Amino acid sequence: MLENVIIIGSGPAGFTAALYAARANLKPLLFEGNQPGGQLTITTDVENYPGFVNGIMGPDLMNVFREQAKRFGTRALFENIDKVDFSTRPFKLWSGDKKYESNTVILATGASAKLLGLENEQKLMGHGVSACATCDGYFYKDKKVIVVGGGDSAAEEATFLTKFASEVVLVHRRDELRASKIMQDRVFQNPKISLLWNSSIADFMGDVESGGLKSVKVKNTLDGSISDLKCDGAFIAIGHKPNSSIFVDQIELDKSGYVITKSDSTLTSIPGIFAAGDLQDTVYRQAITAAGSGCMAAMDAEKYLESLH
Ligand code: NAP
Repeated sequence: MLENVIIIGSGPAGFTAALYAARANLKPLLFEGNQPGGQLTITTDVENYPGFVNGIMGPDLMNVFREQAKRFGTRALFENIDKVDFSTRPFKLWSGDKKYESNTVILATGASAKLLGLENEQKLMGHGVSACATCDGYFYKDKKVIVVGGGDSAAEEATFLTKFASEVVLVHRRDELRASKIMQDRVFQNPKISLLWNSSIADFMGDVESGGLKSVKVKNTLDGSISDLKCDGAFIAIGHKPNSSIFVDQIELDKSGYVITKSDSTLTSIPGIFAAGDLQDTVYRQAITAAGSGCMAAMDAEKYLESLH
């Protein structure tokens, strides 16, 4: 069956695109992928999504997105698209052996925060461990937190967290920051931030039942020694990775792998393929901005489909 619109991804961008495409009577087909609901499903309270006075849990918010998109006829499949061919029309997509064809495709596969890969990091995610200071910083009023990383993200998150936390320790594996000079200056001049050089995180200590993270085990990268560092929160800020591996050689990506969109639109290098959300956003990376660009992608797709007639 030839589809009007296929949407790959189920975060705020994907489901908003689906909502708008469904209400335009395009009967969109959406693929939820490996992490249904996207990055918000690994956060707890979301307090900065407009419309929810008392905040809402990340997974609950994504259920609302899903239900609203389905109400207007979106078909959402719990399948992962693992291969695409955008070189001929209609565009072709595969989920395992199953092949799908569509006149337009909206790419909304998002980005994933890079994590350290420790077992307890996953267990305590949303319970003291976070990959997003903007989302979770507010919960650390007058608390002690650490930030892991040495780039602009880490410097920015550490600085941002001083609005809430009483103390921020920036833990970096080397003895100099990668962050830009201006961001470094902000860090060094902030009396609430201290630096722990040549240090990496060996483990996160605490458990969900007894209130989450209590401390981290810090490994000195020069001599290998291990020490304990008490903290209430740990923010991992070692970069993000756009989920664009299946689009390599299909559409234009920047050197970091983000899909390039034409300014003020969701148009990619191929007419009929649109991109929305964190997959193409190197700056804002918020649920609300992703939702906004999902809306734009559906409207761009609708306009494109009309031009085919
Ligand atoms: P980044 O520049 O790639 O920096 C990542 C940092 O994390 C590096 O310091 C790296 O250490 C460290 N790191 C990576 N893997 C690690 C691991 N497994 N364990 C411990 N540390 C690890 O990433 P980013 O800071 O997210 O920035 C990405 C891009 O966005 C950059 O171009 C940046 O300029 C830009 N950005 C700009 C702003 C701004 O201007 N306001 C804000 C955020 C991001 P090493 O230094 O040892 O490699």
